[in-house]
Amino acid sequence: MIIQMVNVDRIYKKQNVVALKNINLAIDKGEFVFLTGASGAGKSTMIRLLFREELATSGQVIVAGRSLSRLSSKETVIFRRNVGMVFQDSRLLDDKTVEENVAFAMRVIERPKKEIDKKVPEILERVGLKDRLKHFPHQLSGGEKQRVAVARAIINDPIILFADEPTGNLDPDTSEELMELLREINDSGTTIIMATHDRNLVDTMQKRVLVLEKGRLISDRIGGWSL
Ligand code: ADP
Ligand code: MG
Repeated sequence: MIIQMVNVDRIYKKQNVVALKNINLAIDKGEFVFLTGASGAGKSTMIRLLFREELATSGQVIVAGRSLSRLSSKETVIFRRNVGMVFQDSRLLDDKTVEENVAFAMRVIERPKKEIDKKVPEILERVGLKDRLKHFPHQLSGGEKQRVAVARAIINDPIILFADEPTGNLDPDTSEELMELLREINDSGTTIIMATHDRNLVDTMQKRVLVLEKGRLISDRIGGWSL
């Protein structure tokens, strides 16, 4: 088991919002899990808890054997190095090229230059961008930007890749291509948790689907969006 949530609530007290209510969940290493539900259902909140961007109000969030509420700030930094994150907007550094954007993720954790020089072109080839190394983000299509974001998220070999609506700004064909890339990454062993409300993608992939409704987990099954 790589992720476990036990009786997790997330309440935004100031606004009096119950974003997640009594979530119980276990995910095994290597799974591909969709997190679905209407806008406001709690998908992003759940990802933020798993990424340790926020803490649960009550209950336990355990990732890779560690209870996230017990991590010190130093341990949190180390934890974040071991998980990858992709957002709806790719959040690339605009003044850096594709290869610099990806290399940056290795530089911040002080990988040796030799390793960076070897690994960055390899990963960019893997995500289908070997002809885009010297491009800047504004010279890329939406799909290409997301591929860079994925490359950056996996360059340090994370145990889990989180993606929050990564296809939200992409057209259907480009979305499917990005899903094929995520499928390959999952097939090579990385656990993937992806929030989406795109029914077609969920139906095509035939993976595990968690459904949130108003902060509650109302369904957990394998297959398409609807039975
Ligand atoms: P989803 O990603 O499924 O659209 P969210 O997790 O973003 O849903 O939001 C779940 C609920 O929590 C919504 O009602 C939202 O308004 C509320 N919420 C999310 N983040 C915050 C926050 N930082 N402060 C207060 N309320 C929030
Ligand atoms: Mg969201």
